[in-house]
Amino acid sequence: MKIICIGRNYVAHALELGNEVPAEPVFFMKPETSLLKNGKPFPLPGWSKEVHHEIELVIRISRTVRKADPVVAADCYEEVGLGIDFTARDIQDQLKAKGLPWEKAKSFDHAAVLGIAWVPRYEPARAASYKFRLDINGKTVQSGDSSLMIFGFESIIAHVSKYVTLKRGDLIYTGTPAGVGPVHAGDHLEGFLDGRKLLDFYIR
Ligand code: ZN
Repeated sequence: MKIICIGRNYVAHALELGNEVPAEPVFFMKPETSLLKNGKPFPLPGWSKEVHHEIELVIRISRTVRKADPVVAADCYEEVGLGIDFTARDIQDQLKAKGLPWEKAKSFDHAAVLGIAWVPRYEPARAASYKFRLDINGKTVQSGDSSLMIFGFESIIAHVSKYVTLKRGDLIYTGTPAGVGPVHAGDHLEGFLDGRKLLDFYIR
């Protein structure tokens, strides 16, 4: 399985990092080895001084799909969850400045946290709005709403599958809202989707 991540999918977040608002989805991948599941603690890597949290809605692909049109795209995921796209921001900034790929900053071990449960997708899919937030030590640091995404789930699937075949079990992290920032050892992270807690783990 593979993990696809969408960058710059909320206007306020694109601007907070000094990026342009994209005309088409920006995507990158993480390997299976970056997955961290079941509420296990996230170990801070020793080589970064600034690891940022990015809370994101995650969709799980339910069947093989390539070159999907928007109608097909609406029919190839059944569940929505929450995840964290951990990012070594200091390393990413260095790589971006040199025009190099981001993998080192995004694809390291445990950098893709997945929540402890999924919810069935809302119907009708196109009109659905998923509201979510991330609390650290009991204080809300990021909140998002899928209706504010520049590219919705179907557009993302249609765009990505134009280039990369998606298979059952693949995960798509759909971008983070504004409010990204550093995590520290001992922090308690909790993620909520429409009031339901789907993410609960500590930074080690
Ligand atoms: Zn992200």
